[in-house]
Amino acid sequence: MREYNATCDRCGFEYKNHQLKQEWTGLMVCEPCWEPRHPQDFAKIPRTEKAPPWTRPEPTDEFVTVDYISTSVGTQETTIPSGDFGNGL
Ligand SMILES: [Zn+2]
Repeated sequence: MREYNATCDRCGFEYKNHQLKQEWTGLMVCEPCWEPRHPQDFAKIPRTEKAPPWTRPEPTDEFVTVDYISTSVGTQETTIPSGDFGNGL
């Protein structure tokens, strides 16, 4: 095999081409840099969330206009009430 200089894609150190090998990421890396793919990447995790059997879109909000002054009955507090709660507050 023809030998030539190659650079590790991770650490950037110079190696010979046969000292680098391809990692699962596709990078050509040296032995200390080489990492196996984590086994959890291959774990089959069952889906716990199941879609409900039927759904319907949320209705649009309806807004009601309320005029507190002109349609109210009795005396309205239109200012901050005076007095305290008996504790000085
Ligand atoms: Zn390296």
